[in-house]
Amino acid sequence: MVKAERKPVQEIFDAINGYGKVLNVGCGGCVSVCLVGGQKEVNALNAELKVHLEKAGIRKRIDGYTVERQCNESFLKELDSKAPEYDCLVSMACGAGVQHMAQRFSKIPVHPVVNTVSIGIDKDLGMYEERCRACGHCVLGYTGGICPVTRCAKGLFNGPCGGTNGDNCEISNEIPCAWLDIYKRLKNQDRLGDILKVRPHMEWQNQSPRTIIQEPYERRYLA
Ligand code: SF4
Ligand code: SF4
Repeated sequence: MVKAERKPVQEIFDAINGYGKVLNVGCGGCVSVCLVGGQKEVNALNAELKVHLEKAGIRKRIDGYTVERQCNESFLKELDSKAPEYDCLVSMACGAGVQHMAQRFSKIPVHPVVNTVSIGIDKDLGMYEERCRACGHCVLGYTGGICPVTRCAKGLFNGPCGGTNGDNCEISNEIPCAWLDIYKRLKNQDRLGDILKVRPHMEWQNQSPRTIIQEPYERRYLA
């Protein structure tokens, strides 16, 4: 799932400076699961902002509302009558949700209040670890299920860089070399032949926004 972390309160405070009525919009999707942008966090942020405002002697109305998912039109339209009442919207969703809301309510300034960090796994309550950067060319099947884009400092697709420092990455003695781990995993599975299969290099040149259509829906959208 997408993982995010909240911006410092001062940055949020500065972003809403000058707006009289602010609606803080949470998202019940990934950001809610990673405990940064659901209704509970909307309430907590609003309470924190109100304390700051009071200390600064500023009068401002800050309300909160959480939609099930900001990245989906049918949920976002719940805000159609509410959003225009405000001078500014702040979003606790990931970057996709923020952009979706900014597009739907294009006359109202929208500010993100979280930084979208990664696609990752839950390590523990409130602790997450990045596992995927959505490169669009997944090679996990050849790398023993270890992502070379996320785990290797250079995002190499075809073996180590040559700078490997013992068992570690050349950038740090505390970060294991991703390709050594891939080698060990494949060896363990008796699949070392896969490490010799040269993969096409990453198509970084394809930097336009990608639209994803799942195969069963192709006839509906690509006919
Ligand atoms: S190779 Fe890594 S970054 Fe690319 S899709 Fe697979 S897991 Fe994600
Ligand atoms: S040492 Fe290993 S993890 Fe680090 S950049 Fe080189 S191949 Fe990648």
